[in-house]
Amino acid sequence: MTTAATHCPYCALQCAMTLRRVDGAVTVEPREFPTNRGGLCQKGWTSADLLDHPERLTGPLLHGRPVSWDEALDFVAAGITRTQQEHGRDAVGVFGGGGLTNEKAYTLGKFARIVLRTSTIDYNGRFCMSSAAAAGMRAFGLDRGLPFPLADLGTADAILLAGGNLAETMPPILRHFAAGNLIVIDPRVTATAARATLHLQNTPGTDLALANGLLHLAVAEGLLDSDYIAARTTGFEPVRATVASYWPARVERITGVPIEDMVRAVRMLGGAGRAYILTARGAEQHAKGTDTVSAFINLALALGLPGNRGGYGCVTGQGNGQGGREHGQKADQLPGYRRIDDPAARERIAGIWGVRAEDLPGPGPSAYELLDGLGTATRALLVFGSNPVVSAPRARHVTDRLRALDLLVVADLVMSETAAIADVVLPTAQWAEEDGTMTNLEGRVIRRRKLMDPPEGVRTDLDILAALGDRLGVAVLAEPEAVFAELGLASSGGAADYAGITYDRIDAETGVFWPCPDPGHPGTPRMFEENFATPDGLARFVAVEHRPPAEDVCEEYPVYLTTGRVLTQYQSGAQTRRVGRLPGELFVELHPDLAARLGVAAGEPVTVSSRRGSVTAPARVSETIRADTVFLPFHWAGVNALVNPALDPTSRMPEFKVCAVRVEKP
Ligand code: SF4
Repeated sequence: MTTAATHCPYCALQCAMTLRRVDGAVTVEPREFPTNRGGLCQKGWTSADLLDHPERLTGPLLHGRPVSWDEALDFVAAGITRTQQEHGRDAVGVFGGGGLTNEKAYTLGKFARIVLRTSTIDYNGRFCMSSAAAAGMRAFGLDRGLPFPLADLGTADAILLAGGNLAETMPPILRHFAAGNLIVIDPRVTATAARATLHLQNTPGTDLALANGLLHLAVAEGLLDSDYIAARTTGFEPVRATVASYWPARVERITGVPIEDMVRAVRMLGGAGRAYILTARGAEQHAKGTDTVSAFINLALALGLPGNRGGYGCVTGQGNGQGGREHGQKADQLPGYRRIDDPAARERIAGIWGVRAEDLPGPGPSAYELLDGLGTATRALLVFGSNPVVSAPRARHVTDRLRALDLLVVADLVMSETAAIADVVLPTAQWAEEDGTMTNLEGRVIRRRKLMDPPEGVRTDLDILAALGDRLGVAVLAEPEAVFAELGLASSGGAADYAGITYDRIDAETGVFWPCPDPGHPGTPRMFEENFATPDGLARFVAVEHRPPAEDVCEEYPVYLTTGRVLTQYQSGAQTRRVGRLPGELFVELHPDLAARLGVAAGEPVTVSSRRGSVTAPARVSETIRADTVFLPFHWAGVNALVNPALDPTSRMPEFKVCAVRVEKP
């Protein structure tokens, strides 16, 4: 028997688990850890089912034909060289993922910048947490999803959660939530909203107005922490002036939330000894997502919460949603959460990589802009840890762009929808077959430990990148612990500083929180207790105004569409849809009033159409959704085809969470 103490391969909670292998069969058991406290959800319990799944890829494919690794890699390297000779270095792009280990995220960024020397790299985390990251940076000078340990939520007298369905996305996290103190903002009565003390069921796309309205009420009710505002923040007066016009009656009209519920919410938060405000994708995935998060941060600051009597945090979704955004696979970033256009950062990282700073490419297009430019600006694309045919906004258009490439290379463990249209498919190892680190939603760096070798014919992403580097004449490290050591060096002095973290330390402790600048440093579970990470140490208020969704309802498209997750599925579903023990099928959730107007009964097919596409699925008729809104889970192909790719001007986040649709019988 072999065992490995590791963590779940799926979401950002990274629940601890023990894997046991007996006679080739792998079983999963939950493991006690400060995050999951001995819990796992269905996805974690069944995560080993994919290890010997019959649909697992076990050898490279070239135009659908099984080939040797040498033939596949030679073909890819030749295609990269030819494309760059004919169209320039930026014509080859890289698309990464928020589920990749820290070592892979770092190596992918390094590979793009010094092997390909392309500026064309971004990743699917742009679609996930970029608005919260941008708002956190401008308020606090630093972005760490939760700047406090999860256990601190257990000390809260009140928690406001805007746009998150934690009871389905990461159920064990609720072990940190005490009964009777939760306020949820969501257009649906989700499993999470159903257990809340107070549910504010707002119109999709109105979270910003609601946050401004709550701050207006906090001012009116005398709930501001004036000493904290004076001592620890700057810029409150313009915000006070802005929210002055968010009268309760106006906010009720915009959001649909009753005034008395808003009053109750702000009294719960303002009257609490300790309170936390959390945002998730429902509030963030908008063309005004950064400003929406700023509005919630303004509320948290005005009540004196961050680094004081509670805090603000973003509940990151993807497995390495935190680490994935720190090490350089973002279009505008170098390792250590450094800006790629910062001359000092370029000098430092170039020195570690043994290249000249002037040879490092500059910032490139954001994820949707990169995908939108395939076949024109970008002629070849390497995809690691992502399935944009299902997960990208305006997905049918993105699929057409992927098909227009001269060369599409996909590294994945199963034949995802994106792999299915690739020229070259490279089979990759699964989480139980490799070592590495992940950084969970608290900023705690944890170990992914190998249980067994990958099947013959399968390689790790790091091995693939190193083999391609060899063919293109630049050496790239493939051994995870060596990569982590270099990553720590590269991050040293940056915002996300891992320099004092080692595999041995993570093993000896229950993970290590960044920043951890040297081996003697204890790590930083709680941030902002003394100062914020801004030049003057003060948090910044940012005045923000509500505006309608980029695409509002109209006569032709009179219903809002919002999307989200379900308990048994994860992200694009490429993995979880293949696990037989995880049930699930696409459905359209709609209110009985809307169903009656359409003459649709539960279970009958219904078609949802936007200006970009349509999808047909069985109706799930339920009073858990507003009558002006339908809901689709996004784990199935076709759903994101409907989504509006309007981008947030700061974060470049597409507007996943609201667009206008028509609903009808097929
Ligand atoms: Fe835990 Fe998330 Fe895995 Fe579920 S999917 S077991 S909540 S890490």
